[in-house]
Amino acid sequence: MPQGSPLGPRVLLRRLREIMAEPQDTQTRLNLVVSAIAANLVAEVCSLYLLRGDNRLELYATEGLNSDAVHQTFLQIGEGLIGTVAQTAKHINLSDAQAHPKFAYRPETGEEIYKSMMGVPIMRGGRVIGVLAVQNRTMRNYVDEELETLETVAMVLAEVAASGTLVDVETGGAGQIDPLHSHRLHGTGLAEGIVMGQVVLHEPRVDITQIIAVNPAAERQKLDEALQSLRQSVDRMLRTSELDRAGEHREVLQAYQMFAQDKGWTARLHEAVDSGLTAAAAAERVQMENRARMQKVTQPYLRERLQDLDDLANRLLRHLTGKTKVPSAEDLPDDAIVVAHTMGPAELLDYDRSKLAGIVLEEGSRTSHVAIVARALEIPMVGGVSDILDWVQGGDAIIVDGELGAVYLRPAEDVRAAYAERMDVQAKRQAQYEALRLQPSVSRDGVAINLEINAGLIVDLPHLDDTGANGIGLFRTELQFLISAVFPRFEEQRRLYATVLDTAGERRVLFRTLDIGADKALPYLEHGREENPAMGWRATRLAMERPGLLRYQLRALLAAGSGRQLNIMFPMICDIAEFVQAREMVEQELARLDRRGIERPATLRIGTMLEVPALVWQLDRLLPLVDFVSVGSNDLLQFFFAYDRGNPKLAGRYDSLSAGGLRLLSHIAHECDAHQVPLSLCGELAGRPLEAMALIGLGFRSLSMSPISIGPVKLMLVNLDVAAVGEFMGELIRTNREDIRAQLISFATSQQVPV
Ligand code: PEP
Ligand code: MG
Repeated sequence: MPQGSPLGPRVLLRRLREIMAEPQDTQTRLNLVVSAIAANLVAEVCSLYLLRGDNRLELYATEGLNSDAVHQTFLQIGEGLIGTVAQTAKHINLSDAQAHPKFAYRPETGEEIYKSMMGVPIMRGGRVIGVLAVQNRTMRNYVDEELETLETVAMVLAEVAASGTLVDVETGGAGQIDPLHSHRLHGTGLAEGIVMGQVVLHEPRVDITQIIAVNPAAERQKLDEALQSLRQSVDRMLRTSELDRAGEHREVLQAYQMFAQDKGWTARLHEAVDSGLTAAAAAERVQMENRARMQKVTQPYLRERLQDLDDLANRLLRHLTGKTKVPSAEDLPDDAIVVAHTMGPAELLDYDRSKLAGIVLEEGSRTSHVAIVARALEIPMVGGVSDILDWVQGGDAIIVDGELGAVYLRPAEDVRAAYAERMDVQAKRQAQYEALRLQPSVSRDGVAINLEINAGLIVDLPHLDDTGANGIGLFRTELQFLISAVFPRFEEQRRLYATVLDTAGERRVLFRTLDIGADKALPYLEHGREENPAMGWRATRLAMERPGLLRYQLRALLAAGSGRQLNIMFPMICDIAEFVQAREMVEQELARLDRRGIERPATLRIGTMLEVPALVWQLDRLLPLVDFVSVGSNDLLQFFFAYDRGNPKLAGRYDSLSAGGLRLLSHIAHECDAHQVPLSLCGELAGRPLEAMALIGLGFRSLSMSPISIGPVKLMLVNLDVAAVGEFMGELIRTNREDIRAQLISFATSQQVPV
């Protein structure tokens, strides 16, 4: 058999259109379809498998295999090569399929004589609904154009199958909905808050009725017009007042706007139209290619970018079909919980904010753009709820628990009652925190404790007022770099820092210089693979080797802080020389300001983070050189206990309230006190009331935490007798007890301190 090049998708698409138009019974139509594909691709076999309601793949039609096997051959998902295509939703292209470990021979089909195989998934709405495969006797290498043709045909078949003209409705389609039972589904909390409401299915897909172009020139024009109106609508979205207010996710959306202008994307759309597809089918074709890429990418940041492209493709489809974006405010229930496979940030913004109560996604992570936007708008959200779309129907009752990452579908009465109670308790707690918001953060016995928030993006800034915090004890500057597609320029950095200082006003801000590397790798900075990235090329180590990066950042910080109070600290300092070198760089930048006649900051304090145990044993020499110290307990304890803070298997294994860790922290507090150096702690410990109580007992007077923790920690503080806890902690540490946590809980209970 010759290594045939396809006659082109255009000819095949025309033939398929003719077949669909002829009045035939379903089976004859399917038989004609598979023979047309086989002929076009010069394949001896073409087979169509469809997924049934019982989740098995059934051979529905074949050209080349035994016709007796049709409707008699079944494969499980994951079984054989066909089952593997269905399971992975990825194509296979094998010149020697029989040598593949997954090859499963079905005697009734007579396929043992065929060597090569190319199979593609038939996808509908992000789900596999079947598999289309061709085979040849020779060890044939199918070329890329052939693969693309088969994928295009699979797309056409998906549309036809969905319209009901290919298969009987009773047998086709996976995932039966069980409308009677309630379900608890697990995911990850991506935006805090709990809500009860009604399911609204987000339908990004637009059904495309015509796949093959009748007038290609007109389709191209239609595509260009739709692209034009898409770009205008994205520009408009960026100008809306709500976004102005929310601020930070503008950067996410600006990247999105860039994608809408992307030349590569436009070129691929044009190519698809030129191959004979309608404009809408072309948009979907390119979207599917993008999805295939997305499946291969594991880097979360890049996945996000591809997700943005998917979102754009959905919008383009809507522009092409003239369908309105999402249900309008009148069509949404008052407590709409939108359920989707995945969603882009812009799609979320299409919903009427006053009706959108919560979001549930099958995909999504905390750093996904849609999650960033949801948190900014305070919409509770749970992601990573696999297969929820198989279980859910529009209008179902649903509870979204963004705290625990749980979703209850059609919740039973007792679950509803329990949640209603929890929401009630939360509302009361919230009212208590609200009442404390403007009160000074002073203990019962009159000791002032500085409670600050950790922040990193503009979107965090409103929390200063919401929580009544005293300032920002940790501003993670790397977050701006992480959400950007390229290095943020000097002016962008300066603007961010100036906005932070403007918003904070009299409240202090501790800016931490870039802490990139480890779990915060930048996609646009060549990093190389590291065995132990947490202990690798990161933070100040990296900054010293790329001094340009740090120099620019310091310049932006000093420019923003000109004439004001500015505090800068360096992360992951391991020895004194590193701090001295970093401080020296600040001095050079100050001299530069002087040369240019630019005003210096009114006060400039340079501090260090204390995150590496080695530095703790150099405090006597370090402290005279620094203006302040902030303990990064997340890293400090990770290195102290030699456990990976990101490894869920180790979470909770080492108690930070055990004698070892507490003695270390006590030593730090003691040394800083002796040298009169201001000390704070900004790791997760600070945000847990019991741990915060212990830290205050050790002598810490400044704690910085997630904004959400300010309320609970302040409530603990106003009920705490600092002198009593100080004495109690001193005793616990001296006696080296093993049950410190339990001791602290009983102390809090006896003193009526809410922890
Ligand atoms: C820490 O290590 O405690 C810290 C606050 O820094 P990050 O969590 O950003 O590493
Ligand atoms: Mg750290």
